[in-house]
Amino acid sequence: MKKFLILGGGIAGIEAAIKLRAKGYEVTLVSDRDYLFVYPISIWIPIKGISFDDSKIDLAQLQKVHGFNLIIDKVEQVDAINRVVKLSNGEQIYDYLFIALGMQKVQMKGAENTHTICGAPAQSLDIANELEKLVEAGRGKIAIGFGGNPKDAKGSAVRGGPAFELLFNISTYLKRKKLLNKFELNFVAPMAEPGKKMGDHAVNNLTKFFKRYQINPHVGTKIIGFNKNEVLFEGGKTLQSDLIIFIAGGAGHAALTNSGLPLSEAGFVHTLPTCQVDGFSDIYAIGDTAELLGPSWAAKQGHTAEVMADVAVYNAHQQILGSTKTRSYVDKVNIMCMMDSGDGAALITRTTKKESMLMLPIVGHWLKKAWGFYYKNTKLKRFPRIPGM
Ligand SMILES: Cc1cc2nc3c(=O)[nH]c(=O)nc-3n(C[C@H](O)[C@H](O)[C@H](O)COP(=O)(O)OP(=O)(O)OC[C@H]3O[C@@H](n4cnc5c(N)ncnc54)[C@H](O)[C@@H]3O)c2cc1C
Repeated sequence: MKKFLILGGGIAGIEAAIKLRAKGYEVTLVSDRDYLFVYPISIWIPIKGISFDDSKIDLAQLQKVHGFNLIIDKVEQVDAINRVVKLSNGEQIYDYLFIALGMQKVQMKGAENTHTICGAPAQSLDIANELEKLVEAGRGKIAIGFGGNPKDAKGSAVRGGPAFELLFNISTYLKRKKLLNKFELNFVAPMAEPGKKMGDHAVNNLTKFFKRYQINPHVGTKIIGFNKNEVLFEGGKTLQSDLIIFIAGGAGHAALTNSGLPLSEAGFVHTLPTCQVDGFSDIYAIGDTAELLGPSWAAKQGHTAEVMADVAVYNAHQQILGSTKTRSYVDKVNIMCMMDSGDGAALITRTTKKESMLMLPIVGHWLKKAWGFYYKNTKLKRFPRIPGM
């Protein structure tokens, strides 16, 4: 029986582990944390709409339900040439390797003066604490934004959705506390049209959203760094802020830098449409770790990570069976985002054929919450999955 080694216990790695186990393979999953963090619902941690524990699934529970081997350890280095993975406490070999380590972030000057909702999970609690201090003080200035990675030409590693969601949610939270007029909410991004990937509908509607949620946009000027309580723009402009939440552009994982694997300039693993790493028939890269193929507006998302995992499992299985059948994930790349605002959501979709934005006041928020419940409970096999979801 072929042995699969999966690196990373996030959305992509867990999906692959579940599907490989369903086919009866021996699977070992390595993760540096003992839980899967469900990032899409973590946007509610800072405004206490959900607890930290509610946004995680213990890997030990998933292990018990699906029967994979679990190693909690840090991947230090992948050595694809010698077919070995170095962990902090040992080494692992494999017949097939699935890389699902997610992505890291561009290092910006003064990043220590900011918080991010897209990094180490505990940062969501830090943001919650900082926000609470401002709420107790009864006033404050908050800046939230995102940037890109100049080496990521396609911009697929720009993560803007959570910044918008957090801004709208904080606005709703402050409004409910009757404090919104005492706060200054600022949105910062270097692009002239942030959110452009979501399509023209979304960009046009963002302006209306900013008005409704009392957010001042500061866009189109390069952000060169941060001081304590200050966003620094090119040209000398600065923006004072008691709390800065900034999602830097995505970058490849450090454990892959000298791996011998083909990497894009931004450090993402170059794969074929089958998710197989170009030139390495026994290695697949899935989720945020991989260079995203597909349309110019493609963006790394959780549901795409699951599609990639599914496709990779199918292809590896066919390979083992000696079949030449393959599947591609590329035709399934789309944008699907339930952009939550705490008092509703906008369902944004974009495919090669159409783009749309559907406003879902109140119900949209609860649909997103219901998705979180569905995601956790179906992964734990507490109830069956709806096909395709
Ligand atoms: C705040 C936020 C909100 C989002 N909202 C949405 C949304 O609404 N819809 C949507 O589709 N997508 C959303 N996304 C994007 C989605 O969460 C990601 O695309 C998805 O998590 C990618 O899955 P992944 O498994 O590739 O990476 P990750 O989920 O990042 O998982 C990577 C895993 O690798 C592990 N790891 C990393 N380094 C090491 C190491 N050295 N050793 C061992 N293990 C390691 C990590 O612990 C983690 O478990 C959101 C992202 C964020 C951050």
